[in-house]
Amino acid sequence: MIKNCKQVLRYMFGRGAFARLPELLAPRREGGAWTAFFVDHWFRGQPLAAQLPLQKGDEVVFVDTTHEPKTSDIDQHCGKLRALGRGLPGAVCGIGGGATLDTAKAVSNLLTNPGKAEDYQGWDLVKVAGIYKIGVPTLSGTGAETSRTCVMTNTRTGVKLGMNSDFTIYDQLLLDPDLTASVPRNQYFYTGMDTYIHCIESLNGRYRNAIGDAFSRQALQLCDEVFMSDDMMSPENREKLMIASYLGGCAIANSFVGLVHPLSAGLSVVLGTHHCVGNCIALTALEEFYPEEVKRFWRMVEKQKVQIPLGACRDLAAERYAALFDASIQHEKPLENALGPDFRAVLTRGKAESLFRRM
Ligand code: NAD
Ligand code: ZN
Repeated sequence: MIKNCKQVLRYMFGRGAFARLPELLAPRREGGAWTAFFVDHWFRGQPLAAQLPLQKGDEVVFVDTTHEPKTSDIDQHCGKLRALGRGLPGAVCGIGGGATLDTAKAVSNLLTNPGKAEDYQGWDLVKVAGIYKIGVPTLSGTGAETSRTCVMTNTRTGVKLGMNSDFTIYDQLLLDPDLTASVPRNQYFYTGMDTYIHCIESLNGRYRNAIGDAFSRQALQLCDEVFMSDDMMSPENREKLMIASYLGGCAIANSFVGLVHPLSAGLSVVLGTHHCVGNCIALTALEEFYPEEVKRFWRMVEKQKVQIPLGACRDLAAERYAALFDASIQHEKPLENALGPDFRAVLTRGKAESLFRRM
């Protein structure tokens, strides 16, 4: 199917770009409009928090990213902003990793659409454009800054699914590689690997498109340069990874993930494992499906001396393996992309258990 693809409207990229945030916000402040800032809680009390270009009426929400976003979190954020009685903000600005960027996207959509966040989990359910939104990543890899989704878990229904919509795409990005200097090394690696994994899954899939492939190949090249170098967190490499994440998000926006993400989603639902580390764990068991890519992954792990926490699924009760399977097999599109229409014949309960045991 030929799709009409939307991408981020504008981006500003470069070290120190964060200082330009006031100028990006200025047109959105006309008539005294206020701004809602969603900032990862790690920045509370950090210099960045003091550098926020705050004006009268602005609201700063520090997003607790201990757990990944829930639909109920989005409802609460919107409820609190509405209760301020200031009307709609002129802009929503998300500053943080994937969890915070997704929170800001979801809030922006829900402020202008009635109902609850869970009503919009799915494809193209958002009817009205959200509040103008600016994304400022402080951690590179998920591609949340460029994608057309914002992942949320609905604890009532157990569904982990985003608001997939053209309205979810950021209007403006501010990409400042200086902001990722403080990320802990393991976290930097896990999240960076999300780009690597998105791209290898999409390139190995059955549903390909030439533009997605071009984005993926370039993002993989940059990942290689970053993670096979002596210091993945040098200023130059932080720049490269920010670009890789941007391109990886563009790639995945118009193609599909593969086998890693469904299994990682199982880990997330059953064990609470976070997305990016979960992907790294899942990938280690998939050499049979992605032989060269898994070898390359281990070379990068060794080169950067990071730790991949394995062993959590080695010896679980039978019900837990069943739950892991159930949470994975429902991701039909990516599984079909990776394994073909008969994916259930390949990823049987028994096969899934043997894969999980190796994680
Ligand atoms: P995150 O946002 O969950 O943050 C991980 C940790 O890094 C947190 O403890 C946070 O406080 C910390 N952190 C962030 N920036 C920092 C900085 N500059 N210095 C120090 N600490 C910092 O991590 P993530 O891996 O970027 O995002 C994962 C989330 O992204 C998940 O919720 C996942 O579902 C979502 N995701 C979304 C998409 C999408 O297309 N929308 C794609 C993939 C993943
Ligand atoms: Zn991912």
